[in-house]
Amino acid sequence: MRRETPCGSSTDCRNSPWIFPIFIPHGGCPHRCIFCNQHRISGVQRMLPDPDTIVASIHSALLRPIDPKRTREVAFFGGNFLGLPRRVIRSYLDVIAPFRERGQIHRIRCSTRPDTVCPETLELAGGLGMTTVELGVQSMHDAVLEASLRGHGVRETQRAVACLREKGMAVGLQLMVGLPGDTVDKCLESAEKAVSLRPDFVRIYPTLVLEGTELAVRYRSGGYRPMSLADAVSTVANMVDVFIRNGIPVIRVGLQSSKELESKDGILAGPYHPAFGHLVETRRYRDRVVSALDALEFRASAIQIHVSPRDIPKMRGDRNETLRFLSKRYWFASISVVGDAALGKDQFLIESIERKSSRRLSGEWVRPIVSDGDDPAKGFPCSTGSSFTGSS
Ligand code: SF4
Repeated sequence: MRRETPCGSSTDCRNSPWIFPIFIPHGGCPHRCIFCNQHRISGVQRMLPDPDTIVASIHSALLRPIDPKRTREVAFFGGNFLGLPRRVIRSYLDVIAPFRERGQIHRIRCSTRPDTVCPETLELAGGLGMTTVELGVQSMHDAVLEASLRGHGVRETQRAVACLREKGMAVGLQLMVGLPGDTVDKCLESAEKAVSLRPDFVRIYPTLVLEGTELAVRYRSGGYRPMSLADAVSTVANMVDVFIRNGIPVIRVGLQSSKELESKDGILAGPYHPAFGHLVETRRYRDRVVSALDALEFRASAIQIHVSPRDIPKMRGDRNETLRFLSKRYWFASISVVGDAALGKDQFLIESIERKSSRRLSGEWVRPIVSDGDDPAKGFPCSTGSSFTGSS
C-alpha cells in the first residue's frame, strides 16, 4: 500500500512516520486539474473506499511488524479530502476513532485544495482526529495557476494556511514545477513565497504529462512543452535549498515510481525519473561543492572529498557523473570520495592530497569549508536533512 502520489505520501527515513495511505482518487475534486490523473498515479481505479474496507485494511496492516518508535498515521491522499460531503468525512474519521483510542493510530492527515479549506469543515475534521493538512498549492503565482486552470489563486492559499494555523493544524505545502506558464525563476519565487507561509513541511513534484489529462491534449497539439529533466532537477535542487536554508523540511521530491506510471498508458512526456529525488540530492551536493571550491579559489590537482558513509552515492553522482564533472571543471588529475563517520549527514570536507605540492597539504585537512556561520570543525552542511519521501 505504500505508494507516492501528488496527493500521496511515504518516506524512507528511519525516523519517519509509518503511514497507512487511503486513496480517494478525485474524491471531493470540483473538477479535473489539467495535469492530474489520480487513477494513473495511484493505480487505484475505484473512486471512494467504503468505511468497512478501510477498517479491514488498517487491521491487516497493523498485523505486520511496525517499529514501536514510529508514529503511526492514516493519510487520505489522491483527492480533495475536505471537499468531500461532510457525512463522508465523518464516516471515514469515525471508523478510525477506535484505532486512535487504542493507541494503534496516532495521527490523521489529508491533502486538499486551498479553496476548500473552511473553518466549519476543519472544526469537524479536527474534532475527529485530523492533525495535518497538506495543501495542493502548486504555484505561488496567480498567472501560473490561471494558465493551469487550477481554479484558485495565491490568496486562497494564504487564507487556507491562516485558517489551518488558527485551528492548530500542522500544514504541508505541495508545489509543482513546470506547469503551463511556469519558468525556472517563477519556481524559485514560489519557493520563497511559500517559505513566508512558514509551512511545517513541503513536497515538490515536477509536472508530468499523464495520459488521460487535459495537459496531454495540449501537449499533443503543441500547446504545452514540459520542462527537461535537467532543468527540473536543477530547479527543484535550488528550491530545496531555499526551504532547507529556512529550516523547512522537504519530505518528498518527485513521484514514486510505479508500474502504472511507467506503463505505456502512464506518462506521455515530462521530466520523469524513477529516482528523481536522488538526482536532486546529487545535484545539490555537486552545486555546493562547486560553490565552495569557487568561493575559496581552491586549487589542487588531486583531492578527496570526505562525506558521511551514507552520503557517498550522493557525492559521486549517478555512475560517477559528479566526479567526472568536477575533474573536467577544475582539471583535477585525481578525485575520490571517501566515507568519514565523523561527518554528519549532509556535510562534506575537501582535502588536497597532492604529494609534490609546495604547500605540503598532503594528509591534512586543507581548510574546513564553512558556510552560514557553521562551525568550521564540522565542515559544510550541504544538503536537505530530509529523506525524500506525498496535491490536491
Ligand atoms: S490536483 Fe487535487 S484537486 Fe486537482 S484533480 Fe487532482 S486531486 Fe483533484
